[in-house]
Amino acid sequence: MDRPLLNRRLAEFGTTIFAEMSALAVRTGSINLGQGFPDADGPEEVREAAVRALRDGRGNQYPPGPGIPELRTAVAAHQQRFYGRLGLSYDPDTEVLITAGATEALAASLLALLEPGDEVIALEPYYDSYAAGIALAGGRRVPVTLRADPESGSYRLDLDELRDAITDKTRLILLNTPHNPTGTVLSRDELAEIARLACERDLLVLTDEVYEHLVFEGEHLPLASFPGMRERTVTIGSAGKTFSFTGWKVGWVTATAELVSAVRSAKQFLTYVSAGPFQYAVAEALALPDSYFTELRDDLRTKRDILATGLTDAGFQVFRPSGTYFITTDIRPLGHDDGFAFCRTLPERAGVVAIPNAVFYDHKDQGAPYVRFAFCKRTDVLQEAADRLKRL
Ligand code: PMP
Ligand code: GLN
Repeated sequence: MDRPLLNRRLAEFGTTIFAEMSALAVRTGSINLGQGFPDADGPEEVREAAVRALRDGRGNQYPPGPGIPELRTAVAAHQQRFYGRLGLSYDPDTEVLITAGATEALAASLLALLEPGDEVIALEPYYDSYAAGIALAGGRRVPVTLRADPESGSYRLDLDELRDAITDKTRLILLNTPHNPTGTVLSRDELAEIARLACERDLLVLTDEVYEHLVFEGEHLPLASFPGMRERTVTIGSAGKTFSFTGWKVGWVTATAELVSAVRSAKQFLTYVSAGPFQYAVAEALALPDSYFTELRDDLRTKRDILATGLTDAGFQVFRPSGTYFITTDIRPLGHDDGFAFCRTLPERAGVVAIPNAVFYDHKDQGAPYVRFAFCKRTDVLQEAADRLKRL
């Protein structure tokens, strides 16, 4: 057959870096600080809730298309508990949709809301499924680059650049805060300006807030809570990050009934439904007391600090994240400038796996010297990784 089997929309994406790097970690017996998954499962009572649902025959057959009512109610109650003070609340029957993780929520939203040729502005570096999701929907991605600022040791969004990137073809801004891979938490002023631009230019916003509870400094503010945004914002959350069960793939969308209905139109032909018994368990997880969420955050902050210190001592320049699971580093102080080459040889040189940030860029040169390490691991594992990296 002359024609390539894989269609043109997907051909550029290859295998995800996470699969490649996790396989490399297994093959070389390295410490895997690449793919972002915790090495300790979430709360025992939540695991038990899943077992109970399985045994009691709850969710073993197709759950309802929008998700089980218990989970939709729990998502709405969670939004009310954490963001009600900002005036944000959702109707569990019409304004909540349960998805197969945030990944399906993203794909279904893009497939539902884009016409071929529509432009989507995404903050670069961006999570890898964004580019593929936009491509599958026939959209055109327009990156706006978050820039590393060695002075402050953080990444900053240039709002002028964002404003200039909006054209008559822009349909949607795809936002992510707290941001993977840089750990940036967008500030109130930045979000207010993004909201103002979205209203002024009549844009939709798809906002990926899966790390909403993992903010170490500052606070997470949902974009939907800003003036004029509720009716144009699709917000995405996930149990993977909030409850340390990344394998369960339970995510959710909150938005107006019209937006949820549009996203459901695409979602019903992707998975239709998923994770029946896990939906019951996540409903219980969302009702955990505030102390659960605080402890999760405090524990990860400590882990961030252990790895940040270790990486600094090993000679990396560290961009200290305000949120997420990840630390981005600059490898140039170690005498390297190609993150891909660095990450491919790191297992044999140090027994550690990391992710080259260039995969998250259209402008590969911009991302070349940066490498991402995940700190959602046991402290002894982080300490051991730091010791190994010091020998570099
Ligand atoms: N968005 C971001 C920013 C992520 O880092 C991830 C990975 N957890 C996802 C979406 C996908 O989440 P899920 O595993 O729930 O599909
Ligand atoms: N979100 C995780 C990360 O950024 C990985 C998810 C995946 O493997 N697709 O590492």
